[in-house]
Amino acid sequence: MNLATKIRNVIALLLIAIALPVAAKNSIDGIRIWPAPENTRLVFDLKEKPEYSYFSLNSPQRLVIDFNDSQNLVTLKNLIKTDKRIKKIRSSTAKKKGGTRLVLELAASYKVMVFPLVPAGQYGNRLVVDLIDQGRTNAKIQMPVSNKRDIVVAIVAGHGGEDPGSIGAKGTYEKRVTLKIAKKLAALVNKEKGFKAVMIRRGDYYVTHNKKVDLARKNKADLLISIHADAFTSSKPSGASVIVQATRRANSEFTRWISNRQKESELLGGAGEVIKKTTDKNLAITLADMKKEHTAASSYEFAQHVVKQLKKVTKLHKKKPEGLSLAVLKSSDIPSVLIETGFISNPYEEKRLNNSAHQQKLAKAINRALTDYFYQNPPDGTYIASIDVKKHKVRRGESLSVVAQRYQISVGQLKLANNLTSNVVRIGQTLKIPSVH
Ligand SMILES: [Zn+2]
Repeated sequence: MNLATKIRNVIALLLIAIALPVAAKNSIDGIRIWPAPENTRLVFDLKEKPEYSYFSLNSPQRLVIDFNDSQNLVTLKNLIKTDKRIKKIRSSTAKKKGGTRLVLELAASYKVMVFPLVPAGQYGNRLVVDLIDQGRTNAKIQMPVSNKRDIVVAIVAGHGGEDPGSIGAKGTYEKRVTLKIAKKLAALVNKEKGFKAVMIRRGDYYVTHNKKVDLARKNKADLLISIHADAFTSSKPSGASVIVQATRRANSEFTRWISNRQKESELLGGAGEVIKKTTDKNLAITLADMKKEHTAASSYEFAQHVVKQLKKVTKLHKKKPEGLSLAVLKSSDIPSVLIETGFISNPYEEKRLNNSAHQQKLAKAINRALTDYFYQNPPDGTYIASIDVKKHKVRRGESLSVVAQRYQISVGQLKLANNLTSNVVRIGQTLKIPSVH
């Protein structure tokens, strides 16, 4: 290196040293604001990785952010138009020369989170400021898991005590088989999140019809399932069948009814209250009738699910739900079905009904039927109703917060439902939208 080169290098270094305080190393190139129901996200787009510090001030509430060695290239005036948490962004005297101090004037005190993000996709270096409503976020996210009631399934093991039910050729008692299947079913139901089983009979004793209905009502059962095993004078008949209370209506009418179910549910949502309060006798009778028929239609719909599932594990005696007039099905306010799990009078089925693995298969089929049914028709106020999942396809220009805002949920809930670890979504991606009613 000759002297001339050395001198040139020294001059170059001096020029850089002189230039530094004038042209800051970093710059704020953009500010984006994302208001959401429970938080506002403010994103600073920066040329370089930010060096920053921040602190809060009270009365009035402010958040002060210092960007070291940075200049602000964004016009702050009129930047905040409608956000309910940030009233204004203004600049103030920088902490250090060459830096930028920005002051966020806030509407209230918020939980503040400030963190940098490295370049990703279309975005460069960012500094993110989250202003989160105090005490709301957690409560709202936890609401669907804690505040909603379980769907209650009342399980009646047929017969019991001095009433053995049918007795097979090999001496199998129906009352014992039904209790075993009922217990297996209850265990499966209780394992399902959002479901609870109530055993109407727990041991070898007889429960009167009135007591059964009474227990189901007391436990606010959404569904009543009676488990039985069939018998006939001949050993030939075999297969399972599902029985619902016979009504004036033909089953084809129920099928039509089921397709209009949504409307009916809305209409009947408050029917009980109207029936109690109205002075219009005709209206009360009409509503009570409709309620009864609505229960019958629900029973039939559930029975169809049971038939569909039982078909996979056993032969069917009747291929469709059968309408019979039976005392156990007559509690008009709770959808009820009776399941004949097979013929105890048939030697082959007697053996199978005694088999623990087969009992488990039957219980699994019934459990599958009731989860399918209730996921399609969740009663109001239940956990299952609250997790009713919609789908959303991400369109151009939509970020997570835009989608969250559209469905009135938080970004956190959206990320939780979709197992997302970052906030990046791509166009065409399908997001599950957990709706909290
Ligand atoms: Zn029976």
